[in-house]
Amino acid sequence: MTAVVLQAQDLARHYRVGRGLLRTAATVKALDGVSFTLQAGRTLAVVGESGCGKSTLARQLTLIEPPTSGALFIDQRDAAQADPRTLKALRQRVQMVFQNPYASLNPRKTIAAALAEPLRINTVLSKAARAERVMQMIERVGLRPEHAARYPHMFSGGQRQRVAVARAMMLQPALVVADEPTSALDVSIQAQILNLFMDLQDSTGTAYVFISHNLAVVEHVAHAVMVMYLGRAVEHGPKAAVLKTPLHPYTRALLAAVPVLKPADRRVHIPLIGETPSPLAPPPGCTFHTRCPLAQARCRTEPPALRDIQGRLVACHFAERTADQTAEPAANHTAEPTVTETVDATAVQR
Ligand code: SF4
Repeated sequence: MTAVVLQAQDLARHYRVGRGLLRTAATVKALDGVSFTLQAGRTLAVVGESGCGKSTLARQLTLIEPPTSGALFIDQRDAAQADPRTLKALRQRVQMVFQNPYASLNPRKTIAAALAEPLRINTVLSKAARAERVMQMIERVGLRPEHAARYPHMFSGGQRQRVAVARAMMLQPALVVADEPTSALDVSIQAQILNLFMDLQDSTGTAYVFISHNLAVVEHVAHAVMVMYLGRAVEHGPKAAVLKTPLHPYTRALLAAVPVLKPADRRVHIPLIGETPSPLAPPPGCTFHTRCPLAQARCRTEPPALRDIQGRLVACHFAERTADQTAEPAANHTAEPTVTETVDATAVQR
């Protein structure tokens, strides 16, 4: 059985926000009770609009800040309750790849020095052994040996992201959290970086949490998808189920907004009304009710629980009705979901 690398149980992160002299401070529930499990060699994609809690979740998983409540197990050890020594050890097991590789690399350090740094700080390897590991990793991520002596400004965006991926993999982490790792790259380069992520996962068994607003990227890399809205998961399950027959109105609206080339792949357009509400004052009941075209009186007062429906978890009072409506077209679909054409066709699909 594949080992569980990451387990989040009711993970929450709340912030106190001052509102001026005459008003009391408010609480922003940036992450409000998220639970999931991730096994070695698997990829969970987290999607949603800005402000849905994706980046807050990334900061919790990478141990940059502690959760307000809930439990977070990494390699079966509770990171939320860990002492400083355990926390230091766990930080080596979790690495992050950022959206902007240039900002995440020190412009004064050569690539060889940047890649050797995690080994120098966290291992007892000799200088020669570190240099050997660096050259192996440079080759593994598709760079050439002569790149080792170059500085970040001498690389293209795609090459810099290869360096960032290499740096994240130097300590052989159990988990890599990638926060929009391809959104700053050209479409053709995106495909190369996605393939690199997938090749490395196949050879190392590293688990990925892939944060992205691009559903094309999600379709290519993910095994499971979690859709978030205002700090909560609203739909979570296997990629094929969530992308092929989405049951939550928000997931359906996100997918319907993706441009497709073939008319047969077009989905029924579901209008999203207005903007995402302020997380300082989320709507009562279902937090999506102010934008949901299917909202009814019950939605305004009663928060929907995350329920198991057709092999995935959905937080909607009326998800069964959507399931009934989508049952017929689903039978006509091919085995793989067909989301979009915005990633180069050379990217390998899962
Ligand atoms: Fe829409 Fe109501 Fe379902 Fe919320 S519970 S997603 S408002 S139908």
